[in-house]
Amino acid sequence: MSLLVVGSVAYDALESPYGKVERTLGGAATYFSVSASFFTHVNLVAIVGDDFHPQDEAILKARAIDIEGLERAEGKCFFWAGRYSENLNERVTLVTDLNVFAAFKPRLPESYRKSKFVFLANIAPDLQRDVLHQVKGRPKLVAMDTMNYWIERTNDELCETLRHVDILMINDSETRQLSSEHNLLRAARHIFKMGPSTLVIKRGEYGALLVDKNGVFCVPAFPLEEPHDPTGAGDSFAGGFMGYLASVGTPTDAHLRRAMVYGSVLGSFTVERFGLERLLKLKKSEIHARARHFLKLTQFKL
Ligand code: AMP
Repeated sequence: MSLLVVGSVAYDALESPYGKVERTLGGAATYFSVSASFFTHVNLVAIVGDDFHPQDEAILKARAIDIEGLERAEGKCFFWAGRYSENLNERVTLVTDLNVFAAFKPRLPESYRKSKFVFLANIAPDLQRDVLHQVKGRPKLVAMDTMNYWIERTNDELCETLRHVDILMINDSETRQLSSEHNLLRAARHIFKMGPSTLVIKRGEYGALLVDKNGVFCVPAFPLEEPHDPTGAGDSFAGGFMGYLASVGTPTDAHLRRAMVYGSVLGSFTVERFGLERLLKLKKSEIHARARHFLKLTQFKL
């Protein structure tokens, strides 16, 4: 089943102890789409400026990513620059230039409106809701991401969007901030009252938790000896997770658990190299091989 995503397509400048890249294709919706396209057809809604390079467009077109919803506007693409600490756990944002993103009013092409799986990547909550209103009928599954910026500045808007969402996928510090609860299980219970029935908490190198009415499921992060650049890991996780669910069509408990593993697999490949480098060389067989490796990582006997 096809999968709709709205979010940023950007140029990024990245710096980590392993190197530096001045300008590379990035953006939450880009990482999400490339990751999800290993599993299903993706309908992308985003905006780019007139500096969007044909080679970068070709990257999207070469995959199962529909770019009819990729609007072109006069001006420059969204630009983001970040620097990571020695252990890659901390990140400083050096630049956020919204550029064409500042006046973004997402418009869904007719062919996107019947999408049954929807992912609202990290953008202003009123834009996320606007996209949802353009989808015809009730999608099978709506998931969203958000960040501290929106929690702090547009809390009312965010709460309104959350009422229409099934799965919230955020990191642990945002979970605590949104719920004002330190304990993640108590935080989940608080967030369920806000709308979502499922919470996916991303915890970087410590893996991810899925919390819903059935309880808690944990997936580790794949142990890597030399991660290079965590940019986009969360969006790649979301792409693997939602891409897998859209490919199987029903979010049963077993499918949600497998989706968590595919999310962790895609996130782990992204951090192996800078930007999209590793994802662009990735083969489906490598994804399945790493998913099988997760079985070995987590199986034990009592
Ligand atoms: P992540 O590492 O998962 O936080 O995602 C990083 C990606 O998000 C980068 O490729 C950036 O271009 C993009 N990004 C950074 N800040 C924002 C923002 N405020 N809104 C939308 N996208 C952003």
